[in-house]
Amino acid sequence: MPEKSPQVATPDQISLEQISGVGPKLQEQLQKMGLNSVEDALYHLPLRYEDRRQFRTISQLQTGRQEVFCAKVLAAGETQTSRSRRRIYEVMVDDGTGQISLKWFQYRKNWLQKRFSVGQQMVIIGEVRSFSHQREIHHPDTELLPDGADPTELLRKDPLKFGRILPVYQLTEGVTQYRIRKIWFNLVKQHSASIVSLIPPTILKKRHLPSLGAAFLHCHWPQNDSSLPLLEQGKDPARHSIVYDEFFFLELGLALKRHGVELARGISFKAEHRYTKPLNKMLPFRLTEAQRRVLGEIKHDMMSQAPMHRLIQGDVGSGKTIVALMAALVAIENGTQVAVVAPTEILADQHFAIFNHWLKELGLRCSLLRSGLGAAEKRTILQDLSAGRIDLLIGTHAVLQEGVEFKKLGLGIVDEQHRFGVLQRGVLKQKGENPDILVMTATPIPRTLSMTLYGDLSLSVIDQLPPGRKPVKTIHYQHNKRSLAYETLQQHLVSGRQAYIVYPLVEETEKSDLLAATEASETLQGHFPNARIGLLHGRMKPAEKDAVMQTFRDHQIDILVATTVIEVGVDVTNATIMLIEHADRFGLAQLHQLRGRVGRGSEASFCFLVSSEHYSEDARRRLDVMVKTNDGFQIAEADLEIRGPGEFIGTRQAGLPDFRVASLLRDARILEQARQDAFDYAQEHHYLQTEASAQIKAEMFRRWGGRLDLATIG
Ligand code: ADP
Ligand code: MG
Repeated sequence: MPEKSPQVATPDQISLEQISGVGPKLQEQLQKMGLNSVEDALYHLPLRYEDRRQFRTISQLQTGRQEVFCAKVLAAGETQTSRSRRRIYEVMVDDGTGQISLKWFQYRKNWLQKRFSVGQQMVIIGEVRSFSHQREIHHPDTELLPDGADPTELLRKDPLKFGRILPVYQLTEGVTQYRIRKIWFNLVKQHSASIVSLIPPTILKKRHLPSLGAAFLHCHWPQNDSSLPLLEQGKDPARHSIVYDEFFFLELGLALKRHGVELARGISFKAEHRYTKPLNKMLPFRLTEAQRRVLGEIKHDMMSQAPMHRLIQGDVGSGKTIVALMAALVAIENGTQVAVVAPTEILADQHFAIFNHWLKELGLRCSLLRSGLGAAEKRTILQDLSAGRIDLLIGTHAVLQEGVEFKKLGLGIVDEQHRFGVLQRGVLKQKGENPDILVMTATPIPRTLSMTLYGDLSLSVIDQLPPGRKPVKTIHYQHNKRSLAYETLQQHLVSGRQAYIVYPLVEETEKSDLLAATEASETLQGHFPNARIGLLHGRMKPAEKDAVMQTFRDHQIDILVATTVIEVGVDVTNATIMLIEHADRFGLAQLHQLRGRVGRGSEASFCFLVSSEHYSEDARRRLDVMVKTNDGFQIAEADLEIRGPGEFIGTRQAGLPDFRVASLLRDARILEQARQDAFDYAQEHHYLQTEASAQIKAEMFRRWGGRLDLATIG
C-alpha cells in the first residue's frame, strides 16, 4: 500500500501505521519499543542474521549454530526423560548422511503426531545442541515438503524464508519473526533509498563509507555474497556508515557548543600571586609535576578572555583539591568570589574543612551552606555572600538554589567525583556573568566516553599520584575465609592504625541498611573486643555524621563501620585498611572509589574484598580486576567491557546521548574519526554560518538541538 504523499514525506514523517502489514495492535507494540516512524524502523537493525543461503547435510551440522537442512522423519513419538520423568516428544530425522533428534518439551501431541508422520520430508531450522554425544535440536522450525519435491526449489521460492542471509529482529509478543521480516522487507525496499546522508561526499570518500541508503538496505537485507562474520560482529562497512553518521552530527553539535563557549566574553584574571604564593609556602608538600601542569592550564584559561570550561580528571587521591584551591585563590586575588559545589553533604564538609583551613590562614572568608542550617544562620550567609563578605562558598546543590546570590562570582568549581553530569553547570554559570567553570571528576572516564559526555569541556588530566604512595594491596577473600582478613586487620589496629568496614546497601525487601550496619557493628565488637567501633550510615543527620567523622579523624574510633556514605572524598591518612563486605554487590567504579579512602599516606594499605556465598561470573571478573590493578583507567576500561557503556556508572542519568545503532564501546575508533571530521567541517564552515552548511546545520538541530541544549547557539 503506497503512502499518502510519497513525494514529499521523508522517512521520519511517515508513521508506521501507514505501512502495509502494520495494524493498530502491532503499531502500538512497536511504539512501546520506541518505533514510531519509518525512519525509526530503518534504524532498528537486525539483532543477528541467519545463514539460509544453502542447505547443509546432517553430517555437516555444527553444535551451537543455527542450521538449516532437509531430512526425512525416521521415527516419532512421546517418551520420558530418564531423570525428571518429564514427557517429551521426539522426532528422529535422517538425510542419508546422518541422523539427529528433534525435541519438544511443550507441545500439543495431536498436532505433532499429524505433522511428523514417518517418511515426511521437510526443512528443519534450529540451533544444534549436544548432550552426552547426542546432537539434538529443541523446538525447531519446520517446513514440510510435498512428496518427491526438490528441496532446492525452495531456495528460490520465498526469499523471506530460504536462499538468503536472513535478518533476525527483536520480537514483540505474539508476532512471528516471519511477519516482522516481511513488514521490514517491504519497508526497507521502499524507503531506504530516501534516507540521504547530508555528510559531504568528500568525507564519505575519505572514510570509505557507503551511502546511507545503501547501508540501510545492506544491513537489513544483505546480499548473498556478504561476509556473515563481518555482519555479525558489527564490522560491516554498511553499519559503520550508519554509526559514523550518528556520531558526526553529535560531534558537530559539540563543536558548536564549544565554539559558543569560546566566543563568549568572560573575565580575564591577572596573575597577582597575592595568595597563591603564600599558600605554596605553607603547604607541607610540593605540588607534583602533573598538578603544576594542570594548574598551568587552568591559569592560562583563567587569564584569557573566553570563559574557562575545563574538566580536571584525576584518579582518587591524585590531589585535585589543592589544584582547585589554587584556582580559587587566583579568582579571589582578582576580587571575585568562588563557589564550590559538591555532590554530597559529607564531601561538602570535607571540602569545607580543607578550604576553610587554608583560607583562614590567608585571612580570607569561607562559608559552608549546609542543609541543616537555621533560618537566621542561612540568612546571614546569604547576606554576607551578596555583600561580598564571603570569598568562597561551599555546599551541595543548595548553592545552586534561587536566592543564593553572589556579589561577583568569578569561578565555579563543581566536584562531580563519579556522579558526573548530574549537576547543572548551566545553573552555576548563571550565578555570575560568564564565570569560569572548573569541573573535577575522579571517574577515570575512558576517552571515548569523556569526548561525548564532556565534549564541550577542555580536559586536564592529573596522571600522577603524590610521591611516597604505596599502592593499596587488594586481596579477595571467600566468605568463609573472612577470619583471615580479620586477623590482619587486628594486627594493624594493635600497631595503631584505623580501619573502615563497609557494608552495601541491602535490598529493600531485606533489612534496612541501618539495621544491617548496626547489627554488624555489634557482631564486630565480639571479634574485636578492644576496638572502639563507630557507625556511619546514610540516614544520619549531617551534624551526626560530622561528629562521627571528626571522632574518627581524632582517632577516638578504631573501626568505622559504614554504608557507602564514605564512598567519596573522606580523607583520614591513618586509616590503612578497608574491608568491604559483599564486595561482589558493588560496581567496579564504586569499589575503586571506596578503596581510594585508604592508601592516602605513606603507610602500606590494604583492601580486603569479602565476597558473598554466591556471586555471579561478572562479579568474579570485577573482583579480579580490583585485585590486579590500582589504575583507575584500567578499571574503567574493564568496567566498560563487563557492563557495556550504557550501564556505565550513571551515564543514563547523566544524559549520555542514546544512539540508535552506534555503541561507544564497539565504535570508539569511528567516534574519533567523526569527531575530527566534524570539528574540521564546523571550522571550515564558520561554525555552520555558511550557505553550504545550512542543510547540515538544520539536520544537526533536528537530531541534537534539544538534547545538547543548543538553543542559545544561533
Ligand atoms: P583527590 O581529591 O584527587 O582524590 P585530594 O586532593 O583529596 O585528592 O588529595 C589526596 C591527599 O593527598 C590529601 O591528603 C592531600 O593533602 C594530599 N596531597 C595532594 N597533593 C599532594 C602532593 N603534591 N604531595 C603530597 N601530598 C599531596
Ligand atoms: Mg578530593
